[in-house]
Amino acid sequence: MIKPDAVLDGHSGSILKMIEQAGFRIVAMKLTKLSPERAGQFYEVHKEKPFYDGLKEIMSKSQIVALVLEKENAVADFRKLIGSTNPANAEEGTIRKLYARSLESNAIHGSDSDENALLESRFFFSRTEEY
Ligand code: GDP
Repeated sequence: MIKPDAVLDGHSGSILKMIEQAGFRIVAMKLTKLSPERAGQFYEVHKEKPFYDGLKEIMSKSQIVALVLEKENAVADFRKLIGSTNPANAEEGTIRKLYARSLESNAIHGSDSDENALLESRFFFSRTEEY
């Protein structure tokens, strides 16, 4: 998912280009907007964290680009492409290093397992099983 501030900052096209050039195939994509409640559901795993309310606000402030991507070893390779959660620690040339504003506004989300990738795909797309 390309996060709201990255879309607002006009980085969607550059980020999509990096994703495709890294060998990912886009199998589903949409521009949409999360309500604070839906953003809260997406990040439910963090509901006890002190940054949860701020995260809901940042994730619902504007539109996001939801993507389903396909590649061998996709989860690990995508995490490598996007870089560390905190852009201050992200490797040079990664999406977060290039386009994040801050830790809480870090440009992009990537699933952390195949299982979560499927759950998160279904969160945005109703027919993921057909792709
Ligand atoms: P990710 O898988 O790399 O996105 O990281 P996490 O799942 O741990 O965290 C989800 C999102 O919450 C991150 O992408 C950040 O935007 C935000 N976040 C994580 N840790 C912190 C933190 O310590 N402080 C704040 N303000 N935001 C955080």
